[in-house]
Amino acid sequence: MKLIPEKEPSAIGRDMHQLIAGLYPICRSITGNGVRETLGILQGYVPLDIHEVASGTEVFDWTVPKEWNIRDAYVKNRQGVRVIDFRKSNLHVVSYSRPVQQKMALAELKDHLFTVPDRPEWIPYQTSYYKESWGFCLAHNQLQQFAAEEPYEVCIDATLEDGHLTYGEYCLPGTTEEEVLISCHICHPSLCNDNLSGVALAVYLAKALQSLTRRYTYRFLFIPGTIGSITWLCLNERRVSRIKHGVVLAGVGDAGNFTYKRSRRGHAEVDRAFAHVLKYSDDKSVVIDFFPYGYDERQYCSPGFDLPVGCAMRTPFNQYPEYHTSADNLDFVSSDALADSFDKCLTVLSLLEKNETYLNQNPKCEPRLGKRGLYQSTGGKVIRELGELPLLWVLNLSDGGHSLLDIAERADLPFHTIRTAASALEECFLIRPSLLGPSALQ
Ligand code: ZN
Repeated sequence: MKLIPEKEPSAIGRDMHQLIAGLYPICRSITGNGVRETLGILQGYVPLDIHEVASGTEVFDWTVPKEWNIRDAYVKNRQGVRVIDFRKSNLHVVSYSRPVQQKMALAELKDHLFTVPDRPEWIPYQTSYYKESWGFCLAHNQLQQFAAEEPYEVCIDATLEDGHLTYGEYCLPGTTEEEVLISCHICHPSLCNDNLSGVALAVYLAKALQSLTRRYTYRFLFIPGTIGSITWLCLNERRVSRIKHGVVLAGVGDAGNFTYKRSRRGHAEVDRAFAHVLKYSDDKSVVIDFFPYGYDERQYCSPGFDLPVGCAMRTPFNQYPEYHTSADNLDFVSSDALADSFDKCLTVLSLLEKNETYLNQNPKCEPRLGKRGLYQSTGGKVIRELGELPLLWVLNLSDGGHSLLDIAERADLPFHTIRTAASALEECFLIRPSLLGPSALQ
């Protein structure tokens, strides 16, 4: 089943890539002006509410940290040449580095330098959010140029002070208060797949859903990883029971196969919807079980919440060498992969929207299909293509205890076939929507 978005998927992929390119240069972290600037740009796409939570706020076992902002950073050699320059790449500074201004020998400086020796051209991405520290990241080849005897001038012009944690939230109302949560992290600096691809996908899903009829209310969160979801869950604890389905979007722009990580529940409707859509897709894909590591699904799926929230990605985060390095750049994410992730996620959301439960109005023996134009050899084009079997499955299992996805799984048929059959039967008044879903009977 495919929805027809307002644009061709490839055009959407290009638009998503363009959004990523615009956000790429900004130095983001878990707090600070880079996050505000990012959310400000996103407000040009969807009307986000921006929330500010003060440093020191207790959120479950955690505390909202001080706010970090950076203006400049460098290491200069004896000649005053910047041998590491934050202006060339914001990955050069360990995120959350405390301010530094001093001269030191290479031996001392080296304790604060990070490289990836087996990828000597790449700059790694390092953070030190919860332990006050400082450091620089650089290409291993670049480090080899440093002269041992030289004193180096080190400067990190940053502030680490009481301020706020900033996050964006967009609520797109549906006809019910039941919610679909779509969450992505916005805390990484110049990295494309890990971080910006999820942001772009969330934005374009929100834009596409705006123009569709919605049963569910959609809540989009643009939050710093870990501390952001913990903060949101703590501040919104009374509302989380409305969340019926959810997905974390992360790493959805690389060339690898689509991967879906199940929620902790393992068999939630969203888990089954992703598995079903991927099963009937022509592309290779992987469905993996939940494990308590990864992105913000760790918090949504913590036992005190146990929300039905999975994670959509392509190559899992720890399985590509570019992960958390400067090689996760604009070339690493492609319009085609972004468009494919968009298409698959929107198809899943559409399935969830249409996954209704019906009641057979003629449950005592089979109704006569022929006299209602539902017999394959005499019916209209749709019925001739559909055949009788999907109609018989829907009639048989529409007892109020089976959703259309339940029926599709049991019949081993694509959801859209079962959905089409249900529509034909509904038009003939042979079934009608059940006011209670299957969960009411379990
Ligand atoms: Zn990351």
